[in-house]
Amino acid sequence: MALRFDHIVFGPIHSRRLGSSLGVNLLPKNGKVCTFDCIYCECGWNADGRGDTRIPPLAEVLAALESGIRECHGSGVPVDTITFSGNGEPTLHPDFPAIIDRTLELRAEYFPKAVVSVLTNATQIGRPGIREALAKVDNPILKLDAATDAFARLVDQPQDPNYSVRRIEREMAWFKGDFILQTMFLRGVRNGKRFSSADRRHADAWVRMALRLRPREVMMYTLDRVPPLDTLEKVSVEEMQTIARPLLEAGINVKING
Ligand code: SF4
Repeated sequence: MALRFDHIVFGPIHSRRLGSSLGVNLLPKNGKVCTFDCIYCECGWNADGRGDTRIPPLAEVLAALESGIRECHGSGVPVDTITFSGNGEPTLHPDFPAIIDRTLELRAEYFPKAVVSVLTNATQIGRPGIREALAKVDNPILKLDAATDAFARLVDQPQDPNYSVRRIEREMAWFKGDFILQTMFLRGVRNGKRFSSADRRHADAWVRMALRLRPREVMMYTLDRVPPLDTLEKVSVEEMQTIARPLLEAGINVKING
């Protein structure tokens, strides 16, 4: 299994886009826990990540956060962004709201200009305290890859049989557009059938959904690392630009990562 995060706090990693970025993994260090099992997940399949299901307790997370941030500050290493992602879904951590509160305190104390982001698959935003915690960070980045349940089942494989795109869309409306909508575009073969997020039918439905949600930014991206399903292929930047046109015309800020 290609786990990417074997610490609670990792980095800072330098990138042109984010600057000096400190990452936070609230999930198991040697496993994966997620409410989706995306066919493109960079952490691999859920089934391969069941060897370690230990979610680090609050005290351990706070100690790692504090020492990571203080260490950077003490050694003069800049932190431009603090990003929660990791080996699964970060909002599954039972103390997610308390962790966000402490992160914001530490940010204010040591790196007041740093931007705090959370990458989430949005399945937990209906739970008490989760959306309120997400609303406190600079960038709540909410994933919605599909406009229909059937396409979500194909690409994201939600573990909850009652997963409903419409419900998530209704819950996202609570943010009143103050969030970043993140969508993966890809094509491939699954169970012998070809599919593509860029197909007219899927893309049009996704555009209509994005127009209803009106997020402050839409982040379109495609495969970057080797996915667990080896039939997958990238969707081109040009295709994503074509799909994005109605959103740009509606005044929505769109970022495309090819
Ligand atoms: S939501 Fe993220 S962590 Fe979970 S399976 Fe999908 S890509 Fe992987």
